[in-house]
Amino acid sequence: MMTRQSVHDGDALDLTGLAERIRQWGRELGFQQIGITDTDLATHERYLERWLAAGHHGEMAFMAKHGSKRTRPEELVPGTLRVISARMDYLPPEIETTKVLGQADKAYVSRYALGRDYHKLIRKRLATLAKHIENEVGSFGYRAFVDSAPVMERALAQKAGLGWFGKNSMLLHPQAGSLFFLGELYTDLPLPVDAPFDSEHCGKCNQCRTACPTGAIIDDKVVDSRRCISYLTIELHGSIPEAYREAMGNRIYGCDDCQLVCPFTRFTRASHEEDFAPRHDLDRAALVRLFAWSEEEFLLRTEGSAIRRIGYERWLRNLAVGLGNAPWSETVEAALRARLAYPSDLVREHVRWALDRQSDKRGRLIATID
Ligand code: SF4
Ligand code: SF4
Repeated sequence: MMTRQSVHDGDALDLTGLAERIRQWGRELGFQQIGITDTDLATHERYLERWLAAGHHGEMAFMAKHGSKRTRPEELVPGTLRVISARMDYLPPEIETTKVLGQADKAYVSRYALGRDYHKLIRKRLATLAKHIENEVGSFGYRAFVDSAPVMERALAQKAGLGWFGKNSMLLHPQAGSLFFLGELYTDLPLPVDAPFDSEHCGKCNQCRTACPTGAIIDDKVVDSRRCISYLTIELHGSIPEAYREAMGNRIYGCDDCQLVCPFTRFTRASHEEDFAPRHDLDRAALVRLFAWSEEEFLLRTEGSAIRRIGYERWLRNLAVGLGNAPWSETVEAALRARLAYPSDLVREHVRWALDRQSDKRGRLIATID
């Protein structure tokens, strides 16, 4: 149910004026764009059903769990008539991206996860936006979501005019790229809706598909999560299939490649939100340094960060793969050996794989010197 329920007489309210003010308040609250849409996601529902039927969601059972609640907002929150979709850019200023990907002894963390967890910040701002609306119209029904419930956030944003679906399945805006967060306010206010973003600007470009290290973009706008490094490093609980380990390179939490190569990413505007600024040098830390963190250090340093959710065991698992892919060095080998007795089969198996890789590289190095 909505936070509060009330019946609104649309005729008695200046809804067009209210929609304009919602946009203005949104800008004042740090959102770069606000759009409004209805709840009809029939086209996207068919797409989701095909994607799930093909098993592309892998272990993400939550994607299939909620039936049609995901694609029918009024089933998730009874009374919902409109969805206010909000975009917030997140890339901090002067952050290296491809340069770090090219430094195999450094860890690459997806740029959305460098700072504090965005969920709290965006939910708070959406609550403030709702407060502004309430001050004007009185009690009304709403619920705020940030990647936290079965919500088709990109589909709703496309319908609300915030961008088109790129071939990499991300939402793209022609003047902003795709490095942004989305949040939603489900509401019972019959606000006027915005035109959907119907034009698609990918054209003949195929760079995201070509650049994907694991070939996870199996068709235009179709990502097979089971091959995607974001899924493998964040969602997957067990062993990372060996077939993808080398392709992971130094990506230890998420992957941005299909966005970084996108020509529209050059239009990204830097975010000055303090919460999104990198903590603990996570934008350029050495793999060895992160691998040396104790569990206590991991918990302390990832407090309030999206990274915390994978837990220490998967943190070590991902870093072990990164170290296996790093250039050979005594320091790397010693760091891996120090974890050989770590009390987790999952970690030990990845450490052994990484040591084998390091040993091969050492052998090749000696052969070239001889
Ligand atoms: S996030 Fe990385 S692995 Fe996943 S589809 Fe994009 S480029 Fe491929
Ligand atoms: S890289 Fe090219 S094809 Fe892929 S999303 Fe960007 S514009 Fe579209």
